[in-house]
Amino acid sequence: MKKKIVIIGSGFGGLASAIRLQSAGMHVTLLEKNEKVGGHAYQFIKSGYTFDMGPSIITAPDLIQRLFDCADALIEDHLDMVKLDPFYRIYFHDGSSLNYTDDTNRMKAQMACFNREDAENYDSFMSHTSQLYDAVITDGLGSTPFDLWTMLKFLPRAIRLQALKPAYNLVMRYFEDPRHRFTFSFHPLFIGGNPFRAPSVYLMIPYLEKVGGVWFCKGGMYKLVQTLENLFKELGGVVETGTEVDQIVIENQVAKGVKANGKFYKTDGVISNADLAHTYGDLIESKHRRKWSWSKLHKTKYSMSAFLLYIGVRKKYLQLEHHTLILSKRYKELVNDIFDNKLLPDDFSMYLHIPSKTDPQMAPKGCESMYVLIPVPNLDAGINWNKIKNSYTEKILSFLEHSFGLTDLKRSIDVIETFTPLDFKRQRNNHLGSAWGIEPRLTQTAYFRPHNRSEDIRNLYFVGANTHPGAGVPGVLLTAETTTKLVLGDLVE
Ligand SMILES: Cc1cc2nc3c(=O)[nH]c(=O)nc-3n(C[C@H](O)[C@H](O)[C@H](O)COP(=O)(O)OP(=O)(O)OC[C@H]3O[C@@H](n4cnc5c(N)ncnc54)[C@H](O)[C@@H]3O)c2cc1C
Repeated sequence: MKKKIVIIGSGFGGLASAIRLQSAGMHVTLLEKNEKVGGHAYQFIKSGYTFDMGPSIITAPDLIQRLFDCADALIEDHLDMVKLDPFYRIYFHDGSSLNYTDDTNRMKAQMACFNREDAENYDSFMSHTSQLYDAVITDGLGSTPFDLWTMLKFLPRAIRLQALKPAYNLVMRYFEDPRHRFTFSFHPLFIGGNPFRAPSVYLMIPYLEKVGGVWFCKGGMYKLVQTLENLFKELGGVVETGTEVDQIVIENQVAKGVKANGKFYKTDGVISNADLAHTYGDLIESKHRRKWSWSKLHKTKYSMSAFLLYIGVRKKYLQLEHHTLILSKRYKELVNDIFDNKLLPDDFSMYLHIPSKTDPQMAPKGCESMYVLIPVPNLDAGINWNKIKNSYTEKILSFLEHSFGLTDLKRSIDVIETFTPLDFKRQRNNHLGSAWGIEPRLTQTAYFRPHNRSEDIRNLYFVGANTHPGAGVPGVLLTAETTTKLVLGDLVE
């Protein structure tokens, strides 16, 4: 008899663990509350414009191939991948800009215009980050259950690599110019971390980008989601969308199945890819939660949220690259306002995704499909998004048109949709509307992150952004490797 597994949620973590376990001989059913799979990587199409709603930057294609291997598939047979150059264009508040690329010489030449000594330090910084990458990826710490023993073994190496000190502090050692300090320290923001306290181990990301590239797949990120869904189904897996789990059934502290749409799904194991606080808080009665009590859930620190504008525009803007960052003058103060002071800042730093730059099919001819992502505080801030979302949208559009110089933007808009922290809560069950889940700070990293195997309930597992190693598509694919190892070890071997 094949062991039965139910996975709650179909983000990349859910899909990846589904493929891994199905290909290992289990019978896997994936239950998703929304009408389509993908989680944050949802997509919508309107008036000829295609919008990926969340992740847009594809990195670490080798980790994606590792997943495809489970289904005997090759990326190139399914996806038309394009390597981007530059990876990003970064606009600083003073009007200067930098095309961030993996080309060492071009990076150094640009950096030398800001600060010659910084340019000379580029190689040693990258060499430092390559050692962090080696620990997490090459030596497999990111795909191994991070128990106490693993942590004790890693500690001397972590100290030697300064992997525990705040990311920004490490970057400061190498670079003087504030623009370089931003450029090499901002990556934790991509995974919901505050660069001024996220441990430097997350600075492996610049090296991961350099060594593996930054990619786009034609048709958008959702093509990857659809491919994973198809691979899973071809392996015999079952997907049920429009199916919101409302209870994990537990007997004698053992997970026995889940309830959804009035039906009981009896299983040998349950994996939750849904938000951790939602899973423990809403799906499991508190009498079963010894470690993850209400008090622990409330004390846990949750990451920021995001305000997103999806814009279809009848115009091309040459100053924008496929990935463009537009920065405010403030960095640390802005991040503090968002993470800690829970203030909606008057100034913005924003990220723009314009996939039609690389794939014209993403928008009608001569038009651009873009999204604007502004990091904002999570719902702890008490901001009434229903009330302010229109005025906030107006403010962003005015900034882009009048201060940044996207001429005639407002007049050229065909389609505009918003997504607020409230939508993260309503549509994806993200606690406090946090877009990245549990904040990757030192006390919530590695061994201190929620474990991939529940500490409270037997045969209950977690996968996705809230577990080890954490958010971001590569991180989440690694969580699936870690969780799969645990499930197979517990239920099969
Ligand atoms: C705006 C944005 C931009 C990003 N950009 C990038 C990027 O460019 N590159 C990158 O690598 N990473 C990026 N990330 C991070 C990355 O997208 C996420 O870390 C990753 O997609 C999270 O995957 P996950 O497996 O944790 O699941 P999620 O995507 O969080 O999916 C969880 C799923 O569970 C479902 N669910 C919840 N509760 C239930 C229930 N009770 N029953 C059934 N289903 C339920 C939800 O509907 C959802 O589909 C971005 C994130 C955001 C929000």
